[in-house]
Amino acid sequence: MSSTDLPSTEQKCETCRSDDVTDACKLCENPICDDCILAPPLHTFSLLETIPEPLSHVVYCRFCYDEKVEPEVVRYAENLEKANESFIFFKTQRKEIPLIKKSKEIMRVVDCDDRDETILRMAFIAAEKGFNAVIDVEVQHQKIRNHQHHTHRWSGTGSPAMIDENKLDRQHKLDQIYR
Ligand SMILES: [Zn+2]
Ligand SMILES: [Zn+2]
Repeated sequence: MSSTDLPSTEQKCETCRSDDVTDACKLCENPICDDCILAPPLHTFSLLETIPEPLSHVVYCRFCYDEKVEPEVVRYAENLEKANESFIFFKTQRKEIPLIKKSKEIMRVVDCDDRDETILRMAFIAAEKGFNAVIDVEVQHQKIRNHQHHTHRWSGTGSPAMIDENKLDRQHKLDQIYR
């Protein structure tokens, strides 16, 4: 593919052809200038259980970003929105759940900063698998001493489920979390 390129030791930005090259795209390794560096928005992918190596960088050229990163940024944002709209049923709640189907999987998330993050992480995993609810939710926290001060670390379990949200009454739908 590069056989038509003239031999040159000069580095030019792959995107704008500027000589002011400061870095290299972490995927294709082509030279790139400051102005043309692209990166996913801060904290994108933070809810993924593991961030795939190709998505873990902050220096991409336009070509690699459009082809490899942008579609994943869009997909992540969609799943995050679904996770935020998921219905959460705690194990302790007594309301009948209008279950359509339930995954056999028991999700476990650990080392979260607070209760909200713990729940959101489970909802995100469920959303990625195409479910709209998490049931049998249990959340725990643990005090951890860290030199002088201590912090709380949160963990939780739950199972992805598909529920019929039309069967939940309006008032309850606004809350979405059933304790
Ligand atoms: Zn450039
Ligand atoms: Zn590239």
